[in-house]
Amino acid sequence: MTYPIYLDYNATTPVDQRVLDAMLPYLTMHFGNAASRTHVFGLKAEEAVAQARRQVAALIGALPNELVFTSGATESINLALKGAFEANSHRGNHIITVATEHKAGLDTCLHLEQLGAEVTYLTPDSEGLVSPEQIETALRPGTLLISMMLANNETGVIQPLTEIAALARQRNILVHTDATQAVGKLPIDLARLPVDFLSFSGHKFYAPKGIGGLFVRQKTPLIAQQDGGRHERARRSGTLNVPGIVAMGKAAELAQTQLAEEAVRVARLRDRLESGLTARLSDVQVNGTRAHRLPNTSNLAFANVDGEALLMSLNEIAVSNGSACTAASTDPSHVLKAMGLSDELAYSSVRFSLGRFTADADIDQAISHVVTVVDRLRTYQSI
Ligand SMILES: *Cc1c(COP(=O)(O)O)cnc(C)c1O
Repeated sequence: MTYPIYLDYNATTPVDQRVLDAMLPYLTMHFGNAASRTHVFGLKAEEAVAQARRQVAALIGALPNELVFTSGATESINLALKGAFEANSHRGNHIITVATEHKAGLDTCLHLEQLGAEVTYLTPDSEGLVSPEQIETALRPGTLLISMMLANNETGVIQPLTEIAALARQRNILVHTDATQAVGKLPIDLARLPVDFLSFSGHKFYAPKGIGGLFVRQKTPLIAQQDGGRHERARRSGTLNVPGIVAMGKAAELAQTQLAEEAVRVARLRDRLESGLTARLSDVQVNGTRAHRLPNTSNLAFANVDGEALLMSLNEIAVSNGSACTAASTDPSHVLKAMGLSDELAYSSVRFSLGRFTADADIDQAISHVVTVVDRLRTYQSI
C-alpha cells in the first residue's frame, strides 16, 4: 500500500527522529520515577524532567515552575477551566468563550453550565475573528474568565489575544487560551502576553501523543481536578510521564531554534498550494482571514462539489474536513458554521495543514490531484 501525502499536521504530527532519540533512554535505562528522591534512578528522571521544564518554559516565555505537565491539551483545558471556576466561584459565575473553540473547550463550558456557570458563546465575524469590542460588550459584573484560542485548528485564524487579555487584566478577569495550534508555530512570549492559563499539547509539535502542559501564571488560584500524590506542586497528581516530558522538552528546543525559518518555508508552500488551486479551479474560497493566520493552515471551500464525494475521492492526500477532530461526528464543522458558511459549503470545505516534513513535490502532487478530483466531480454532478 502506498501512503497518501500527509497534509493533516493540525490533527497530529509525526515524532521527530531527534525527539525519539532523546526520549528512548528514559523508557529503558533511565526508567526511574521522578518522585523517587532516594536513589539514582529517580534522581536521573527528576533531573530530566527539570531540564524539559526549562526547555518548554523557554519556548513560551514562562517560568519553569509555572508549567504543569498533563496528558495533553484536552486535560489542560479541563484543568484550567474547571480548576479556575472552582477556585473563584466567590467572584462570579460568568464565562466568555467563542463558538469556534475546540470541542475540548466548548464541552468543558457545557459541563460548567451544569455546575452553575453562565457562559456566553461569542460568534466571530465571517473571517473567524473576535474583536476586543465584542468582548467588552459581553462583560458583566460577575465575569470570571475569558477562554479563547490563540489560533484555530480548522482555519488557522489567529485572534487578537494580546489586546483582549490586556483588557481583561485591567478588570481583574482571568484569561485562558488554548494555544495548542500556536505553540511551535508562532513565537509566544508569556512575559508579554497577559494570560493566566495557556494549554498546549506535545503531539502537535513533533512529540508523542499523551503529553501536554498547562501554563499557570504564578499565584493564580487553581483547584486541582486530579488528586493523589501532590505531583506538579499539587496541581496535577499522578506519576510523571518522564519519556513524554523529555520528548516534549526536546521538541520545544527544536521548535525554538527552527520556528522562524520553518514558518517562512511552510507559509511559502501553503501559499503555493492556495495559488495553484485557485488559479486552476473556479469557485474556491479561503475560509478565515488571510491576514491573521497560522503559516501552515489552509481551509478551502470548493463550491458546487458534494462534500462527502470530495473527501472520499481525495485518496492521494490525507486531509480533513472540520469535523475530523470530533471523533464520532458527521455534522458540518461548527467552526465554519459559526463563521456563517452554509451547511453545503461547510461540507465541501477541506483543511490542508502542512508541517516540518512537507516538501515542494508534495504540494505539486496535491494541487494536480485536487484539481483532477474537483473537475471530475463538478463534471459528473452537472450532467
Ligand atoms: C489537538 C487540539 C486539542 C486537543 O489536544 P489533545 O492533546 O489531543 O487532547 C485541543 N485544542 C486544539 C486547538 C487542538 O488543535
